[in-house]
Amino acid sequence: MLFMSLVAAAAAAGFLAFEWRTLRNRVLLFWSAGFAVIVLGSSLSLLRPVSFLIGVWFANGLLVVAHLLFLFGVARFTGRRIAPLWWGLLLPWAGLLLLPAGLDPTPVFAILNSALVALVALRAAHGLLSRAGAPFEERTGASDGLGFVFTVHGAFYAAKALLVPLPGAFVSIVGFKGLLIQVSLVEGIVVEVLLALMMAAAVRRRREEAMTALAERDGLTGLFNRRAFESRAAGLLGTMAARQEPGALLLLDIDRFKAVNDSFGHAVGDRLLVTLAEVLTKVLASGPAEGREAGPQREAIPARLGGDEFVILVSGLDEAAIRDLGAAIRVRMAREGGRERPAGATVSIGAALFAGGCAKLETLTALADAALYEAKRQGRDRLQVRRVAQPAERVSGRRQPDPAPLSSGRGCCA
Ligand code: GH3
Ligand code: MG
Repeated sequence: MLFMSLVAAAAAAGFLAFEWRTLRNRVLLFWSAGFAVIVLGSSLSLLRPVSFLIGVWFANGLLVVAHLLFLFGVARFTGRRIAPLWWGLLLPWAGLLLLPAGLDPTPVFAILNSALVALVALRAAHGLLSRAGAPFEERTGASDGLGFVFTVHGAFYAAKALLVPLPGAFVSIVGFKGLLIQVSLVEGIVVEVLLALMMAAAVRRRREEAMTALAERDGLTGLFNRRAFESRAAGLLGTMAARQEPGALLLLDIDRFKAVNDSFGHAVGDRLLVTLAEVLTKVLASGPAEGREAGPQREAIPARLGGDEFVILVSGLDEAAIRDLGAAIRVRMAREGGRERPAGATVSIGAALFAGGCAKLETLTALADAALYEAKRQGRDRLQVRRVAQPAERVSGRRQPDPAPLSSGRGCCA
């Protein structure tokens, strides 16, 4: 059994080291080192009959060291600090060397060792399961499985610390025949395999999530890029159609941006783009304009389409609220853009409004583009709106900006 546990730990150490070569996440190195330390400890425990110091004291101390390496790996994984003082747990272990000569050291060693391992494992479980102060992706439950395994492992070792002193539980520890030791070895094998596989899977999943997030973002401003906008906008338009919510698609374009680049340099132009992205985020995060009632629940997707062109799809706002939103963006941009160029920066906005029901993204984009062109033509630094025609207007035969801007049902928005 000890041999199987040793092989499982060696396999886990090798597997995590191999995963580290591909994934380059240092959590895997901490854990690989932890398993390697277990291999060393298990090997040295074979020397039990020859040397109590090496076979018991040193070998079991290495089990605590391995768990501390797991704990600090968990700290890296969750991005939350664990006090280095935890290494101080090795002091009581060192203190065992000072036990009085007449006392049987074996049960004392077993109790203290189990208690220390339980403490470290439960601290790791707490680090993985606690949501307070966790980064966003942690709150989505990526580490719950690992936290659960550490909880069971810690509870097992806590129970062991309590059981060891009971008569009958502690039988023939020297020959590895005691029931508690046998159960412990089986538990060790299961936990080793589970922890190694789950940590590697968690690190891989996090890497995939990070890559997906990266692929959806514009590198300069951090806003969604065109592709991410289009896929999200389809979903929001469907929801708006189902709820019969009003909304708008706004196209925004910085005025005379080429001149900014030419006069102040490309870096200043870049900063202006970042400023506009920040302005959009801040304005959309703030509530309705003063004096206006809070309307239906507002949802907004801002994105950078490319160059100096941005877009916002927003739901739950009527025309007055859209005009407020446009004004807030322009005022704030004139003020905050002043950090990048002396006179601040102006923005033209074309908005395609719809009063509720279904609207296609292409239709809204074409309308907003026409409105933006109009805003530029009329002298820039302004908002122009176009409304998606209502069904009644189509029936009356008025001129349509798009042959089929409206239809009923959720599917029309996809
Ligand atoms: P208008 O008022 O009509 O919008 O004129 P404009 O000068 O802003 O013209 P336009 O919107 O066509 O200009 C886009 C310019 O944006 C052209 C390009 O050199 C510049 N540009 C595109 N991407 C970037 C970027 O990532 N950084 C910087 N600094 N400039 C960019
Ligand atoms: Mg422009």
